[in-house]
Amino acid sequence: MATNKTDRLLSRAYNRIPGGVNSPVRSWKAVGGTPRFIQRGKGAYLVDLEGKKYLDYLGSWGPLILGHADQRILTAVNRAAARGTTFGAPTEGEVVLAEQVHARVPSIEKLRLVSSGTEATMSAVRLARAYTQRDKIVKFDGCYHGHADWMLARAGSGLATLSVPDSAGVPAGFIKETLVARYNDLGQVESLLRKYPDSIATVIVEPICGNMGVIPPAPNFLQSLRKITRDHGVLLIFDEVITGFRVAPGGAQEFYGVTPDLTCLGKVLGGGLPLGAFGGRQEIMDLVAPEGPVYQAGTLSGNPLAVAAGITTLQALKGRGVYGKLEERGKHFQQGVERVLAQYQIRGVVNRVGSMLTLFFGVDQVRNADEARRCDRDQFARFFHGMLKRGVYLPPSPFETVFISLAHGAADIAKTLRGFEDWARSESKG
Ligand code: PMP
Repeated sequence: MATNKTDRLLSRAYNRIPGGVNSPVRSWKAVGGTPRFIQRGKGAYLVDLEGKKYLDYLGSWGPLILGHADQRILTAVNRAAARGTTFGAPTEGEVVLAEQVHARVPSIEKLRLVSSGTEATMSAVRLARAYTQRDKIVKFDGCYHGHADWMLARAGSGLATLSVPDSAGVPAGFIKETLVARYNDLGQVESLLRKYPDSIATVIVEPICGNMGVIPPAPNFLQSLRKITRDHGVLLIFDEVITGFRVAPGGAQEFYGVTPDLTCLGKVLGGGLPLGAFGGRQEIMDLVAPEGPVYQAGTLSGNPLAVAAGITTLQALKGRGVYGKLEERGKHFQQGVERVLAQYQIRGVVNRVGSMLTLFFGVDQVRNADEARRCDRDQFARFFHGMLKRGVYLPPSPFETVFISLAHGAADIAKTLRGFEDWARSESKG
């Protein structure tokens, strides 16, 4: 029997939408309980259907670096909408955005706009295969690169908790060219490159993993990947769908000083609207249709509303001290959590790069997917619901990323930490 608005809407949703949601992790399978329908958001806050307000650290899974309903984005999108929502013909904004991306990420000499991260990675891999005329790809256990068939081998994110090693409906033949290595384990990549000489097109990597929780690259991991891929004539793709414009203006490649051949973007690029991109060296990108033989297309690609939100977001991120502020807030959050963990003798570790972080319970170190899987999922579920009760909305899975936005002030972080301490106190009493 439905008891409130949420339950009533959820039962309608279950009738018409698989699992009631349009993306699996939204269903809260990993933490249990009833997902909240969101009514609205402003800045760092969300309001659910019942009118309850939460401090939001999901940030729509990464895009909302400016927070919810930022006035600059609303104005830009409204202005663009008034001029027409889609034309299926080139617009000035697309050129401006491509130039602005290149100015921040110089390795992206040319790019193609798409509508999601999945399209970006799918197209980048096709392009790498065409360029190298090789079929195999190497991905890392726990890295998620969207839901294209050949990427669904040991992917993280929703698949990390749904216990689907790869998806039903993917023919075995599609995945047989996908090789999987352990994240931060250069030796495994080296042996794959030796075992399959002249057959590997690309190594695709999240330069900071965000889909098995946050896992930073080990010192020199990315630098060494760059070297060995180049030595073997293999293209290096950085999937910066999460990290692009989040950890530095030029993404993880600027942060770590490593230049990939191709880069995938999404999330922050679209400022909360559906937008992705793949791009890189001109000689590779010139293989994309209509210049070259690699087919790739999209009815809504480079959509004017999404492009307007993207340009506005990149502009806003030019503000002075933006990345310093994100780092400061992230550090405040991390140090506060670590202090409380120590005080209440709760075992756990915080992995963080700038404004992206994950708290893993029950472990002391997480450097790859195997170590991430050892974390205490039950404790995470108690933490998630304990924080929700205290007005803090976290990603509903132990293998996801907490995103801090520019709308999160020091007072918001302090409030979150007080909530965390209160939860830790009740948790330690058992
Ligand atoms: N790559 C990475 C690193 C991602 O985190 C995601 C989405 N979480 C994707 C690709 C796929 O993006 P989308 O959900 O926009 O298709």
